[in-house]
Amino acid sequence: MIGKLFPHAEIFKWMMYGNDGKHPACDPSYFGRREFSFTLDNDIYLRFQSFNNAAELESSIKEKCPFKIDIGPVYSVDPAKRHAYAQGGNNVFMPVERELVFDIDMSDYDDVRYCCSGAEVCLECWPLMTIAIKVMDIALRDDFGFNHILWVYSGRRGVHCWVCDGRARRLTNEQRAAIADYFRVYKGNENSNKKVSLMGPALHPLLARLYTDVLKVFFEEKLLGG
Ligand SMILES: [Zn+2]
Repeated sequence: MIGKLFPHAEIFKWMMYGNDGKHPACDPSYFGRREFSFTLDNDIYLRFQSFNNAAELESSIKEKCPFKIDIGPVYSVDPAKRHAYAQGGNNVFMPVERELVFDIDMSDYDDVRYCCSGAEVCLECWPLMTIAIKVMDIALRDDFGFNHILWVYSGRRGVHCWVCDGRARRLTNEQRAAIADYFRVYKGNENSNKKVSLMGPALHPLLARLYTDVLKVFFEEKLLGG
């Protein structure tokens, strides 16, 4: 059954990012340096799984039947052989690429929803998630120039955003933090009523644009009535 349901070939094609042997500049070791982690039904967590091709990925998933699969970074060397490389003396085992990932959780919107709280989600509050997606998607494309953006339902109470452009995959941690900071307008805590802090004498051009193009329309036409 899992052989029919799980998109092995598509996942492999995606994670190859074109390193498929058809181009002279391709890197045949690329997919094999990606870490996969499996969570099995007895809560056993298997890290540093790696596969050289789609068939290896598929047979391992069929054999182990993981409840959850995490996609980790691409390392400098095959993560399954990291110990062998470590014995070589110079510690070359390190992450070199990873998609830029954002995690938006419905429970972070408890200040502005009256229907649900925590992990609950309903048709009244889910549109807030739609707006969050629009806001992030517009800024990632227009202000950062990213094109390969994947939005996926997290399976419980939110969504994940995977920015897959090569430029995004090679960002340092410091650069990732700076991008996250660009989106930060929420400065509130439990003791203050003011949750959103808009700095400076004028609205940032991004916020001004989002306000007119996305937020105002949504607030007036959908949220206010609801
Ligand atoms: Zn709700």
